[in-house]
Amino acid sequence: MSTFDTLAVHAGRDGLTEQGVHAVPIDLSTTAPLPSVHEGGLAYEQMATGGVPLEGQSTVYQRLWNPTVARFEAGVAALEGAPEAVAFATGMAALSGVLLAMKSTGKNHVVAVRPLYGGTDHVLASGLLGTETTFATPAEVRGALRPDTGLVIVETPANPSLELVDLARLVEEADGVPVMVDNTFATPVLQRPLKYGVAMVLHSATKFLGGHGDAMGGVVATSAEWAVRLRSVRAVTGGILTPWPAYLLHRGLATLPIRVRAQQDAAHKVAMALAGHELVGKVYYPGLPECDPLGLVGTQMSGPGSLMAFDVESAEHAERIPGAVRLLTHAVSLGGIDTLIQHPAGLTHRPVAADAKPHAQMLRVSIGLEDPADILDDLVQAIESTR
Ligand SMILES: *Cc1c(COP(=O)(O)O)cnc(C)c1O
Repeated sequence: MSTFDTLAVHAGRDGLTEQGVHAVPIDLSTTAPLPSVHEGGLAYEQMATGGVPLEGQSTVYQRLWNPTVARFEAGVAALEGAPEAVAFATGMAALSGVLLAMKSTGKNHVVAVRPLYGGTDHVLASGLLGTETTFATPAEVRGALRPDTGLVIVETPANPSLELVDLARLVEEADGVPVMVDNTFATPVLQRPLKYGVAMVLHSATKFLGGHGDAMGGVVATSAEWAVRLRSVRAVTGGILTPWPAYLLHRGLATLPIRVRAQQDAAHKVAMALAGHELVGKVYYPGLPECDPLGLVGTQMSGPGSLMAFDVESAEHAERIPGAVRLLTHAVSLGGIDTLIQHPAGLTHRPVAADAKPHAQMLRVSIGLEDPADILDDLVQAIESTR
């Protein structure tokens, strides 16, 4: 098969030459002509129960299926090494789809490993979708399983403190219960969780996959069996990705490997320099040996990525720094072409329970494609000018 970088450029682009085009078409049709009531009805039935349209069959209605979205899904499936992928309007819509798909298997209990993205933590802790969650460390997962446990959820590297979880080990501890990994931070360039026997890989495509901060989406790479459940849920809850962002997110996949590697090279330089700065406390970056006690960088992950966090001496200092950056942007989100800084305890992880919230003297940085020397200069002037 093709190498990963080649797949990133070509996956999801099948049949373009036959259509007489070179770029992926954006198909905006909300509805599709029906050849007859009978055939339209069959196609509708097929998709409402989680199937995809057969060759030549009507696609009926955009909430069920869309060719531009399907091309993005094919691209993600190829990169994650998954049989299928199912795309949603946002990462949180994808997570909601996963939780409702779990409920459709008759199970209602989730075991989740903290830390997690603030929104994920919130939907699980609040039980807003009617699920029940036990939070556990990786070592506590087996003990937290119940007969009604339908899913184990984990994020690695985790948001915001970049903790790493050994996936092969976690799958063992889950003892046959399906595992969902949020792979947003690593991307398939650095880590392909399906190799370790996990059931579902989720992305906030809004982040690295799109990579330019201008399109939202979520996607789950998985088996054919889970894909059917996810599409059934998506068809009735209406969380499908729409064609414009699907086009942008798919375009992002082509440059994903080079962006991730370049951002990672820059992040490594910034992390090393921050670690040596007198006003910076702990630096959280998987490329620093003390942040990777299990030795997962170089084995489970091919590299440490481009997200990092660091502590300063006080919460007050941490809160002043984002207001003092000039080149960087003080904003949530991550994984795009430009460098962003934010205060997790005050923003992305605001809804997280006090005992699980990141501490208030921590800042998170998503390193972009700028010259690392410029990124570092700006960070250092912001840290020093607000001390
Ligand atoms: C942003 C994010 C999400 C949620 O994705 P949205 O596209 O914002 O809905 C989920 N997990 C992680 C790790 C994220 O960073």
